Amino acid sequence: MEIKLMGVRGSLPTPLVNDEYRERLKSILDLAAREGLRPDRVEDFIGKLPRELSTVYGGNTTCVTVTSSSGNIYIIDCGTGIRPLGDQLLKGPCGRGEGMANIFITHTHWDHIQGLPFFKPLYIKGNTLNFYSPYPDMENRLIHQQGDFRFFPAPFEKTASTKHFHLMDPETPLVMEKDLIVSCFPLKHPGGSIAYRFKQGGKTFIFATDVELTGEMLEKPGNDTDFFLGADLLIIDSQYTLDESFMKFDWGHTSYTVAVNCAIRWDVETLVLTHHEPSYSDAALRNIHSEALEHREAMSMSRPEVIMATEGTVFKL
Ligand SMILES: [Zn+2]
Ligand SMILES: [Zn+2]
Repeated sequence: MEIKLMGVRGSLPTPLVNDEYRERLKSILDLAAREGLRPDRVEDFIGKLPRELSTVYGGNTTCVTVTSSSGNIYIIDCGTGIRPLGDQLLKGPCGRGEGMANIFITHTHWDHIQGLPFFKPLYIKGNTLNFYSPYPDMENRLIHQQGDFRFFPAPFEKTASTKHFHLMDPETPLVMEKDLIVSCFPLKHPGGSIAYRFKQGGKTFIFATDVELTGEMLEKPGNDTDFFLGADLLIIDSQYTLDESFMKFDWGHTSYTVAVNCAIRWDVETLVLTHHEPSYSDAALRNIHSEALEHREAMSMSRPEVIMATEGTVFKL
């Protein structure tokens, strides 16, 4: 399986602001001046820049793709990251009206569906969009988002593609391909949210965003978290710092500290922290990453690997 992050921001799309961009530009030019950079060395120079200067975490809201070993693409959530994904898909069968998109939706808070009206394959006759979720009224929810011309000019039900809605049951895993099995698990979040687990070729990927995990939950006997055990890759909501998670109790998100504790308890190989708080700069997110690593070390653990979700990152399992 190959997992690609198309949108990693929580709540609201968050473009890089000019002040932050200028600050970064200044640091890069300072470095270049100190090195006496020659024009023919520019590519090489960029390649050697520290990560904090060469990349941004990204401002699009949640969207992730899973490409199976046979090359089929599965999409999780329709935040604004699905817009550039749609543009990429247009280069293949979706551009000719011969494509199929399988879309799993965690829940319908705005940041998880707001990109769908801008997903161009939706508007092309001949394309088929399969929506998967445990929500029986998913079609109505999408019509509600995109059904009133006062807010958007093209109603969802009049878009040209064919849409199918598949109801999932947390008790019954779906066999999507001969060895690709997708299961779901309900999460604590206002209005509910759903984690998805993809298993193929002995590897497991779990996507669990918009979830409020707490230390007590981990301690509580009989808490059914077997779903999460032994993942090779777990991408999880960690919008808050620990202090914030106390102030924002019941808001439905998790602190990075608890996310690390959970990943240790669940024997996760690689933990990716996502749903970044929109008010946090890249510098603040880098700080959170360092603190998450310090927290893991304070627990005397060398695993899991802890990574901050960054738009465009690809994980191969
Ligand atoms: Zn969200
Ligand atoms: Zn939510």
